[in-house]
Amino acid sequence: MKYQSTQFVIKTSKQCNLRCQYCYEFSELHKSDVMTMAQIESMYRHIESYYRSLEIPVAIHFIWHGGEPLLISPQFYWEALDLQAKIFASNHYQITNGVQTNLTILDDERLLLLAEGFDRVGVSVDIFGDLRVYENGRDSQARVLANMDRLREAEIPFGCITVLSKKNINNVEQIYQFYRKLGLSARLLPLHQTSNQGQNSGIEIDPHSVLKAFQTIFDLWLADEEFVWIVPVIEMVTEVLNFYDPSVACNFYDKREWEGINLVNITGDLYGYADAYEIDLSYGNLFTTPLGELFSGKKHEQSILAAEQRLEQTCVNCKFFGACCGYPIAENGYEYNELDPDGAIRCIVHKGMLQYIEYRLIEEGIINGGIVDLQRLKVAQVDREVQHV
Ligand code: SF4
Ligand code: SF4
Repeated sequence: MKYQSTQFVIKTSKQCNLRCQYCYEFSELHKSDVMTMAQIESMYRHIESYYRSLEIPVAIHFIWHGGEPLLISPQFYWEALDLQAKIFASNHYQITNGVQTNLTILDDERLLLLAEGFDRVGVSVDIFGDLRVYENGRDSQARVLANMDRLREAEIPFGCITVLSKKNINNVEQIYQFYRKLGLSARLLPLHQTSNQGQNSGIEIDPHSVLKAFQTIFDLWLADEEFVWIVPVIEMVTEVLNFYDPSVACNFYDKREWEGINLVNITGDLYGYADAYEIDLSYGNLFTTPLGELFSGKKHEQSILAAEQRLEQTCVNCKFFGACCGYPIAENGYEYNELDPDGAIRCIVHKGMLQYIEYRLIEEGIINGGIVDLQRLKVAQVDREVQHV
């Protein structure tokens, strides 16, 4: 059965034992409030009633996020998962759960939760930069690496997220080698701009340095006989291959048709990915209002129109539009891009990477006369269907 996928990022609590300089939750990290089970039940029911009304079967991926989600008692998650299994019992759904953790706290109870409760575990670790520190300023990485060893010993699969900032962007080759050596997949996430002025002072990066870092990763990947899974570079390779493959149907991001990523704040306020925490742009409250009502509301329509306008201004003239669905511009908005005087966005990083990958594959003779020699790429391991969920 083919399921249409969507993702709900759930901000269960903002409390965290770390104080990473770039954290976009920084002002709330001391708050110990946690979503109540009654709120989680309303959220589930409001989500379920909407997807039940659709004819297509739906794969829903819940990502439990914070703050540090593992500060909360594992019992909380077992209850939330039990409740979820009851509410989404129909085979109309394929439900998975992931957790994004700083992995500084790992007792036996939490190890069991990661092994048997969650389907996916994401670990945040920057490898270089010393920005992931405890409240007293002490670096957390030694503890995280030791706990990653415990996950490996317990055979719990996990992937990592590394935030790229000025403190580690010149170390991307070592970061690549780190993940290669451990056989881990990773997502490189360029430093997120926060609304707190001055918070990222001294560690900001510009789109051109992000592009250069991703180009370095691609060159390492291309020359490597091992397959190292580094997102978003792998997704970009897939898009270039799809561009050259006439059998792959064009794929255009259509927010009006489908929301792939939804963020639920601890307050219940629901956001699209591009609009997170801009309360005026929230679609409304998922604790109190059914998802279908929020999706047909005025705020959702505004968000759709803004995404459509970004696609119209930037993507329709891009030669890769269709192989790249336009999501990076539609939902990432202005980050890691520059604006033309008429307000159009220049797609510095994503388009720059697609152009670079194409150029390098032609230079290496892997693309020749418009035909891709797949035997010369580790492409069999690439899932050719790019889904930004
Ligand atoms: S671990 Fe995550 S939530 Fe905690 S301070 Fe760092 S970035 Fe923020
Ligand atoms: S590469 Fe950039 S401009 Fe081109 S379609 Fe993708 S997001 Fe749009």
